[in-house]
This record gives sequence, structure tokens and C-alpha cells, in this order.
Amino acid sequence: MTKKGKGIPLWLVAIWAVNFLGLFALIVYLLFGQRDAAAHAQPLPDSAVAGVVPTQTAPANPAPTAFLPPTQYILPTVTSNPRSTLIVGTTPTPPSISIEVASRHQIVIGYSVEGRPLEVYRFGQGARERLIVADIHGGYEYNTADLADELINYLDEHPEAIPSDITLYILRSLNPDGYARAHDINGRANANGVDLNHNFPYQWKEDWNRDGCWSYLYLTGGTHPASEPETLALMSFISTHNFEALISYHSAAMGIFAGGLPPFRPSEDLAKTLSRASRAYQYPPLQTGCEYSGNLTDWASNVKGIPAVDIELRNHRDTDFDINLRVLDAFLAWQR
Ligand SMILES: [Zn+2]
Repeated sequence: MTKKGKGIPLWLVAIWAVNFLGLFALIVYLLFGQRDAAAHAQPLPDSAVAGVVPTQTAPANPAPTAFLPPTQYILPTVTSNPRSTLIVGTTPTPPSISIEVASRHQIVIGYSVEGRPLEVYRFGQGARERLIVADIHGGYEYNTADLADELINYLDEHPEAIPSDITLYILRSLNPDGYARAHDINGRANANGVDLNHNFPYQWKEDWNRDGCWSYLYLTGGTHPASEPETLALMSFISTHNFEALISYHSAAMGIFAGGLPPFRPSEDLAKTLSRASRAYQYPPLQTGCEYSGNLTDWASNVKGIPAVDIELRNHRDTDFDINLRVLDAFLAWQR
């Protein structure tokens, strides 16, 4: 620590630097913080874990959109859910196409019915792509989104876990509206009362035989195949990539289901491999006699030719992190 005899003293430079940073932060706050506050002048419901777009409910202020910016944009926020992102916008019906705008390794591929972003995290730079989808059943299966967060944090700290020839994408929640609504059966559907895992355009039915199926609430498959913005966003994202394998996380049925109606051999092979690696999730899983329709993994397997499995965590609370670290390794190493 030597001090120069001439020139500007170091302490003076330090004070200038602090002042400059303070001024810069003030400008940023005035530019963005005020607009954000104005846009959220209406109180948010308690259930809104993440920020919501103030569009559906009629605001008390007669001209609430006057101060909103013309286009939708995203601001990072830390609420009770550190992975949530607050969005502000003017569009009552959010776009359902894949919009890949984001920084670093985070991509927003579309928006939920209530305008929450569908966030995908990318790891690795290899040519071979793999996809993990969590939380298709929202708050009822919220621990799958929590597992996704844990995997994302783990991979942030251990980028070497991704083989050099692989790129892994993790969609942390396909149903953020259900996640925000309730962490029980009431959080299963999206904001239109649709079971997203019955909305994909393969063997789709609006209603189905409930024998042996989940039936605590009467949910529909949508008004038509792929009627929901969450479904369309994921379909679009998948169609613009070349995924070699896909996992869709659920809870809780203790088992791995291979996508495919009729059975798709590569999905069965993937299910078998992941079951063995997990040392916990059985394959074949327990069958309850449910006839599936409009399922994500059946659509991926039979329409897109992507080996795909549904993995069920063991309960509705734990993330089974250690088990799924073994599953992840096997998933990244698996070859068709
Ligand atoms: Zn599920």
C-alpha cells in the first residue's frame, strides 16, 4: 500500500466515486422505480407471490394506463420467491408466442394467462439440447418448482456438471398462476381452470373419463387443443429447438411414466435409465387405470419424436434433491 506523493489523493478519488455511484443509483431509481410504483398502484392479492399484471380487474383510477410504457418489459424482483420476476405491461392478453428476450442464461418464452413470465434457464453450450419442465400442475405440485430452483442454483455453482456437448434448459414453472394461487389442489389448474397436462394437441379431449385419474376438482382440457398460452409458449419453444430428451416433473406418485400412446420405445428406455439411477422412483410406475389425453410427454413422444418422461416426486413437500441430482447426471449422459 504505497501512496503517491503527487497527483490527486486516493481518498478524494474514492469520495468522488461514491458520489458518482450514488447519483447514478438515484437516476436509475427515478427513471424506473417511479414507473414501477405507479404501475402497481393497485393492491395485489395476497396470493400473488410474484408480481402480476394489473389488467384483469377494473382499477379504481379511471385512466390507469396513461402512465404505462407502450411495451411490455421485465424487471427483476426479489419477493418471497427469489426466482420470480415482476412484469409490467399494457397487453390484457399476453403474447403466447416464444419471445426469447433475457439476459445471461435466463429466457422468457412466453406468459401465463395472468401475465406471469415463463422462465427458462440455460446451462452449457453444447449442440445437444435437453429440456426439464417443472410445475406443469402449479401450486398443487409446487415442490417441483422448488426442485427446479435448487437445480438451477446448483448448476450456477457447478457449471462443470454439464457435459461440454450438452445444453440443458430448465423451465422452472409452466404454471406460475397455479403456483401463486394456492399450494394445494386449488393451485393445480391454470387461471382458466384448465389442467395444462390435458391441453396438448395429441389425443386431446375437453373432458375425459375420470376413473383412476386425478379428480379432486373438475378441471377441463381447455376449449380446444393448445388453447392455453402456457401450452402454446412451451410448444413454440420446443419447436424452435432440437431437444433429444425431456423430463416433466410432477408430485406425487412415486414412479416414472414413459411418454407415448402407443408406447414410444426411446421414452421407455429413458424412463428405465432414470429409474435405475434414481434408486427411488420405480419404473414401470403404479398404474391407476387413468386414460391420459392431451399430455405433454405423449405429445412430445408421438408428435415431436422427443423421448420424454414424467417423473413423480415422492410427496407434495420434499424436493428429493439428492435423488434428482443422480437423475440429472443420468439424464445428461443418456444416449438414445
Ligand atoms: Zn402432476
